[in-house]
Amino acid sequence: MVPFHVKEDDVTAQLIDGKSLAQDIRDGIGRDVQALEARTGVRPGLAVVLVGDDPASAVYVRNKKKACDTAGLYVADHHLSAETSQAELLTLVDRLNADPKVHGILVQLPLPAHIDGQAVLNAISPGKDVDGFHPYNIGRLVAGDPVFVPCTPKGVIRMIESTGEPLTGKQAVVVGRSNIVGKPVAMLLLHQHATVTMCHSRTKDLPAVCREADILVAAIGKPRFVTGDMVKAGAIVLDVGINRLDDGRLVGDVDFEPVRERAGWISPVPGGVGPMTIAMLLANTLEGAKRAATGEGVA
Ligand code: NDP
Repeated sequence: MVPFHVKEDDVTAQLIDGKSLAQDIRDGIGRDVQALEARTGVRPGLAVVLVGDDPASAVYVRNKKKACDTAGLYVADHHLSAETSQAELLTLVDRLNADPKVHGILVQLPLPAHIDGQAVLNAISPGKDVDGFHPYNIGRLVAGDPVFVPCTPKGVIRMIESTGEPLTGKQAVVVGRSNIVGKPVAMLLLHQHATVTMCHSRTKDLPAVCREADILVAAIGKPRFVTGDMVKAGAIVLDVGINRLDDGRLVGDVDFEPVRERAGWISPVPGGVGPMTIAMLLANTLEGAKRAATGEGVA
């Protein structure tokens, strides 16, 4: 029997198949949506707000709306021009906050430069903040009593849990400290009793720190940054990065082939964290609708 942290030479990592895990979760959500509507008359609804014509954002929004449709959620689609003022956007957010058909509000980032993105996120009612970016929800997450957990970090944890490996006492290293990925992932791992190290662009001897990791999460935004020699044999490696190469291919922050030769588990790009992010958005919207159906307040 090979212990968790040791790896036989001729074994490559097992794949953490985010695509199929996300599909299972979305199928379950579809059933839950039907059951909730049959029981309470409440159909979970997501408002999707896109400002401007950024092509990558348009693809993300399209995929999210499609996933909602397939799972039977109501979608309120708001595509606004790039010239929309901050006041107009805040008025829309207020309206969506008050709309009983809407249980989740997603404002696709980035917003145009003339809009203060944080002010818009702060205006979303914490009870409809399915992205989990409102300071109230961040505070609840840090306190270990989360309401809405940000979608990508929530998906990362579900993927790690899918390996069946216990997290308690594991050394976890998170590379990247953004508010939307790195910090919440670190918090969630901490709440699962891992010993967490957060790394960033000023970390000294990053490869040595990464080599200590039983669980390594890469959320950097640099193609194939994590190389085989940075990974401990048998580690669980989660690749959050989405990077488009000059030839159009999508790759993660992890150099997949060499790392697969060392890791115990690895998530691919594409087909890893990306699909899970969308599944968690649906899960959060369903949670919001369930709270609304029972009259449970948030803030
Ligand atoms: P940010 O740019 O906000 O953060 C990147 C982080 O990486 C920063 O903390 C930065 O450090 C760190 N970093 C940059 N260079 C280095 C380096 N050389 N060594 C160590 N750390 C470094 O990115 P995001 O967190 O928003 O996203 C990260 C990646 O995840 C991107 O590729 C993004 O596209 C992807 N992503 C994927 C999602 C999905 O659904 N799969 C969802 C969200 C993001 P410092 O703070 O010091 O600058």
